[in-house]
Amino acid sequence: MPIAPKFATLKPGRLFLGGEWQESVSGATSPDVNPATGAKLVDVAKADRADIDRAVAAARKAFDEGPWRKKMSASDRGKALLKIAEGIRKRADELAELESLDKGKPIREAKGQVWLTAECFEYYAGWCTKLGGETIPVSGNFLNYTLREPVGVVAAIVPWNFALLIAAWKVAPALAAGNTVILKPASETPLSALALGEIAHEAGLPPGVLNVITGPGSSVGMALVEHAGVDKVSFTGSTEVGKAIQRAAAATVKRVTLELGGKSPNIVLADADLEAAVKGAQLGIFFNQGEVCSAGSRILVEEKVHDEFVARFADAAQKLAAGQGDPLDPNTRLGSQVSEGQLKSILAYCEKGKAEGAKLVAGGERSKIAGFENGAFLKPTIFDDVSPDHTIAREEIFGPVAAVIRGNDVDDVVEKANRTIYGLASAIWTRDVKKAHAIARRLRAGTVWINCYNVFDAASPFGGFKQSGFGRDLGAAALEGFTEVKSVWVDLSPYTP
Ligand code: NAP
Ligand code: MG
Repeated sequence: MPIAPKFATLKPGRLFLGGEWQESVSGATSPDVNPATGAKLVDVAKADRADIDRAVAAARKAFDEGPWRKKMSASDRGKALLKIAEGIRKRADELAELESLDKGKPIREAKGQVWLTAECFEYYAGWCTKLGGETIPVSGNFLNYTLREPVGVVAAIVPWNFALLIAAWKVAPALAAGNTVILKPASETPLSALALGEIAHEAGLPPGVLNVITGPGSSVGMALVEHAGVDKVSFTGSTEVGKAIQRAAAATVKRVTLELGGKSPNIVLADADLEAAVKGAQLGIFFNQGEVCSAGSRILVEEKVHDEFVARFADAAQKLAAGQGDPLDPNTRLGSQVSEGQLKSILAYCEKGKAEGAKLVAGGERSKIAGFENGAFLKPTIFDDVSPDHTIAREEIFGPVAAVIRGNDVDDVVEKANRTIYGLASAIWTRDVKKAHAIARRLRAGTVWINCYNVFDAASPFGGFKQSGFGRDLGAAALEGFTEVKSVWVDLSPYTP
């Protein structure tokens, strides 16, 4: 399978630095695999510290001397972002194909994510001309006002589950605020980030404003975090790596935004529309093969409707399993996990679930798909009678594995929902509006969905409480993380107003 052949200029063996494709200093590469087949797609450049120095130099030069911040107006920057969005829309089919091949996600979902990526650039294009400061009524005969200025060189380190979309969540607001960016995609899914670099360049972004560097997170990613020439790290990934990044960033007092893991509670109350709740539970835990940071992996069900909910949910999981197959087939509803390693890690959690006494009611094993014998496919999996203390109720599995936990009443489910080190997302299914809003206030999570799940919009902030991280992606909130506030004082004496 050739990789998205229409990307004629895409050079996966190279890095995109300073507005051009460049060989890595060492010339080393590593294979990028299609997890649905186990076959190699292409060899990708494996950067090292020498390449990071070049990337930082390019981004630094573009920030300190280039036209992006100094000569181009906010309106010009907005137009550039709109052009990037246009480029993404023009090449939407090819980008979706790259995402599907690289991660194993169903093509029809990949297409939706490409459109959301374009919308993200359009949303932040509008912000360029609206990022102003304030005039502040201070004491004394002074004029005081604030300016919002870009932070500088931003390192955006992103995961593989929504490679292109999450890259846009960082790159678009960072650029809108006038920063320059070094984008480091996950090693499992480097292709769409490289394509984005090319699209941005074709859209007329000045050289060095967006650089794309590929290579292992432990070396290349960490080198960016440690580099004195980088001003801010915006990271999405695991809590474990997030902690290491926060520690390393302290040495240079870098600004850090962390979007980390989750174990999000999906609460089904006795008065819920059960059909809708089952659909929501499905979307919550099986969408993108469960490899979603906000996945509704703990389903807390009020005792009264527990049995009926579980029966319907298990039935839905069996039906979904029939829609699993070739990610490039437009009818496919469930694809493969990102890698054989990820599949094995999920299967080990399933074994733990059984060993600790949870009841397996669906899936729990590898799917055999004709023609895709080497693919990392897993059946949609449901465990019932999970205790909040079980490993599968506490740890992020990052796969299509739901843990159903019983609750006696509203207080019991809310207490169990909050019994986690994470706080990324949550959901409530109920027909009672008052109850829904009251519970929304009690949940310690960055997002609460009421009678819906996994809804996103570029305008609405997304991020975590507790060990799910801090800072926000999306919305106006993301811009705060990409700007510094400067206070300017002007002496107005001897004039008195
Ligand atoms: P990961 O292992 O933490 O990797 C994320 C990114 O960090 C990758 O680009 C990775 O590069 C890089 N990296 C790895 N080690 C690093 C280090 N020591 N220093 C700097 N960078 C490093 O996470 P993942 O397995 O790709 O993604 C799954 C995790 O992301 C889950 O925990 C999920 O919940 C979380 N996630 C959170 C959100 C959110 O918005 N909160 C969204 C999506 C995913 P390599 O690929 O080269 O290792
Ligand atoms: Mg891949």
